[in-house]
Amino acid sequence: MSAVPGKWTVRVDRGLCLGSGMCAAVAPEVFALEDEHASVRQPETGEDPRLLDAADICPAQAITVHEDGTLIAPRR
Ligand code: SF4
Repeated sequence: MSAVPGKWTVRVDRGLCLGSGMCAAVAPEVFALEDEHASVRQPETGEDPRLLDAADICPAQAITVHEDGTLIAPRR
């Protein structure tokens, strides 16, 4: 990933996470499954469209992506 570090902030609400593993499949360097729930390995990232996709496809809507404090995903 050649993006600029620190531009986006990624969070997972482990209380909502269902442990589907879809986020880790989409961006394994950012998300990891631990104890059947996702954790964020890299909370500060550069711009990466995969993170928007991960937030959109998460069945629990447990993933949020912020840019400069503004929520940019999930996009629905
Ligand atoms: S896609 Fe959502 S529900 Fe599935 S592991 Fe990731 S955060 Fe949890």
